[in-house]
Amino acid sequence: MRAEIITTGTELLLGTIVDTNAAYLSRQLSKIGLDLHFRTTVGDNAARIATAVRQALARSDVVLTTGGLGPTVDDVTREAVAEATGRRLVFKEELWTHIQELFARWGSEAKPNNRRQAFVPEGSIIVENPVGTAPAFIVETPQGIVISLPGVPRELKYLMENNILPYLKDKLQTGEMIIKSKTLHTCGIGESTVDDLLGELMTSPNPTVGLSAHPSQTDVRITAKAASEKLADALIADMEQKVRDRLGDTIYGVDGETLEEVVARMLAARGLRLAVVESNTEGLIARRLLDCPHGPQVLAAHFVVRSAEEARTTFGLSAAQVKEGLVQEEVASLIAERVRRAHNADLGLAVMGSMEPGETLYTKTTGASLAALSSADGVVHRQLRYGGTSELARQWVSTRALDLIRKHLIR
Ligand code: ATP
Ligand code: MG
Repeated sequence: MRAEIITTGTELLLGTIVDTNAAYLSRQLSKIGLDLHFRTTVGDNAARIATAVRQALARSDVVLTTGGLGPTVDDVTREAVAEATGRRLVFKEELWTHIQELFARWGSEAKPNNRRQAFVPEGSIIVENPVGTAPAFIVETPQGIVISLPGVPRELKYLMENNILPYLKDKLQTGEMIIKSKTLHTCGIGESTVDDLLGELMTSPNPTVGLSAHPSQTDVRITAKAASEKLADALIADMEQKVRDRLGDTIYGVDGETLEEVVARMLAARGLRLAVVESNTEGLIARRLLDCPHGPQVLAAHFVVRSAEEARTTFGLSAAQVKEGLVQEEVASLIAERVRRAHNADLGLAVMGSMEPGETLYTKTTGASLAALSSADGVVHRQLRYGGTSELARQWVSTRALDLIRKHLIR
């Protein structure tokens, strides 16, 4: 459902007063989930207001106007709306009685020009105004609904809250409008690749699809707007399937799930145990796993090696083997294999990286990391382009290493 607002008043165009009515109405419409597409301001001119209302009706379902319902010659909204909706203005005896009663209550008498306020477009729904003289009205047309409200902010507010919002909620059944989101987490696939793969899904109006990028992870957020939670869930489920068809097993989890949780849960479900040796990630992989419910149960052992020499003595490598450093397939494989066997684990993970201090993802020139995963089936490797010990590099490398385990388990 689309709505738009037309505020009227030459003093708004002159800048003498600020258009607080438009801001107020905008807030009220968003509260009930009505989409606002346009806001227009027109001076006190019947022909121009009529044109604005006609244009608004052509592109929106609900048009709200404020101002121009008073008794004076420059209050022309009644005439303008009647013209735009092709209706006559008709005199309403009961409105005239109501206006006269109000004046009597204030100890004065209604003037002849107050009679103008007893006219409304033919067939409109009259909204009585107990806090002022200008009645509001609603014109329901096949093209859409026009709701004309007084300009005085206090009166506008009263009528909105007591009459118009309940009317809109009921009429448009937007009272139950809810907005719901689901986030799909991917790993090892860049934001621009995800964008390419999702293609036209990214421009869907409802549900909408949006991306947000984190180190080595891209989130796909699906947001649906619907009259009930069930309908929103159905919209999301349909879009989720389309997204999954395109992104496949790069999606590791949804909403609050983390990669480490998913990996720990998968290991636990299969009764597998993992031993980990890290260098430049400085224990981050083990910590991420240990913080998960199944982490302590699946982590058989974990070590940090801070130099080639430490790795050599701990894992029984020769000086020749570590001469070129730790970021070598042979070295990482041996360490992964040996830590797995030594701790009677099913999987052995060795993540060896360059450890130049102060290196960051953006300044790095030589940094690199290498992950090796050993199982009874042999060893698989993954080159990780990032090295160094910056926080970003550690996050990046630890995430890709955890994903290597996940990929191994789902293959
Ligand atoms: P009245 O019976 O007082 O003539 P009306 O429905 O004809 O009411 P206007 O004459 O357009 O409304 O405006 C009355 C007063 O309400 C303005 O002088 C101004 O102070 C205030 N007002 C009107 N429109 C707005 C607006 N968009 N934002 C803030 N205040 C407004
Ligand atoms: Mg006025």
